[in-house]
Amino acid sequence: MQEIILIKNGELALKGLNRATFESVLVKNIKRRLRDLGHFVINRSQSTITIEPTGSDFDTDEAVERLRRVFGIAAFQRAAAVEKRMDAILETASTYLREDLAGISAFKVESKRSDKTFPLTSPQISAEVGGKLLEAFPHLHVDVHHPEKIVTVEVREHAAYIHCDQLKGAGGMPVGTGGKAMLLISGGIDSPVAGWMMSKRGIVLDAVHFASPPYTSPQSEMKVHDLLEQVARYSGDIGLYTVPFTEIQEQIRDNCPEALFTLVMRRFMMRIAERIARREKCDALITGESVGQVASQTMLALGCTDAAATLPVFRPLIGMDKDEIIVRARQIETFDISIRPYEDCCTVFTPRHPRTRPSLSLVEAAEQKLNVEALVSRAAQNAKFEIIRNGR
Ligand code: ATP
Ligand code: MG
Repeated sequence: MQEIILIKNGELALKGLNRATFESVLVKNIKRRLRDLGHFVINRSQSTITIEPTGSDFDTDEAVERLRRVFGIAAFQRAAAVEKRMDAILETASTYLREDLAGISAFKVESKRSDKTFPLTSPQISAEVGGKLLEAFPHLHVDVHHPEKIVTVEVREHAAYIHCDQLKGAGGMPVGTGGKAMLLISGGIDSPVAGWMMSKRGIVLDAVHFASPPYTSPQSEMKVHDLLEQVARYSGDIGLYTVPFTEIQEQIRDNCPEALFTLVMRRFMMRIAERIARREKCDALITGESVGQVASQTMLALGCTDAAATLPVFRPLIGMDKDEIIVRARQIETFDISIRPYEDCCTVFTPRHPRTRPSLSLVEAAEQKLNVEALVSRAAQNAKFEIIRNGR
């Protein structure tokens, strides 16, 4: 008996002709994610991917933990792989499933036979395996309607697989199948979640962060770094551009009406992010905005922000409540980092009475006082680049 991992790729099954491409991106991502865990081979057949250790060094427990964070995997399981002989199947079922079945009383067996040359039919396999398990574990009984656990036997091309518990995958699409986009990341709760959500749709992330030293501290840059490391556990490596934003913020403060500070600042963010995004061949921008959350996120304010960008702006949190966003932030383990108490450039020079119903012409008039192009191109040029690696 050998323990392997079986991966069923949910949404990919729907992709028709593209499926092969999507699967090969997924396999590549899995290989990269598991590569330092020992020797293994990956096989694909019939919409199932199998990961088989080829040496005793393979760390299956850690592999399972990492696979939970690979997008494109709907569900997966650990399974025993055995020779396609009934005696081997029966023997392995009663040893391999011992722990799984210890704490329950009702179970049932389901069998699937894709190898039609196997001498028993699926119901016959189920009946034999069920009988064997009842004999081996007298505390059990079969309940086909309300089983606490379902034992599955799959007789496939190369081997038979026996497994019990299905593990939930991260879902979504394999990263790399959806192109690349630029995430505007603050140190807040929302933007890391927004990046995670788009990465889940198969998009590779680059990120841009605006820092305004000395108004913002090195700790707030560290925070962004740590947040992206968490996101990178799902998305893979992220290229981070840290943009010096102090000069722009001071110019806005000195030249624009206070009520428009935040909005003008956000429009600068869009322009600079877009400049870097185009250079890096990103096809969209991503922000963590949600309608109504703050004054700069009313529908009209978002419209003014949008008008500064020509790339599409994705706002995956647009209709979410803060508490829904927080649930997600906790799940992806960014929340505790986000609530570290450091300033973001958005909290520098905040207007006392920001405009919630701005008009674009008003905002554009305010910007006339600034040399927008020069400021944007200087900031984009002076951005500092680093790669945030997928730590684990
Ligand atoms: P978050 O938790 O993302 O900070 P927030 O409620 O604080 O959200 P704002 O500060 O108004 O929202 O920012 C809205 C969006 O603008 C953020 O989600 C992010 O995409 C972008 N943003 C804000 N500050 C920065 C920054 N310093 N660098 C890069 N992007 C930023
Ligand atoms: Mg913020």
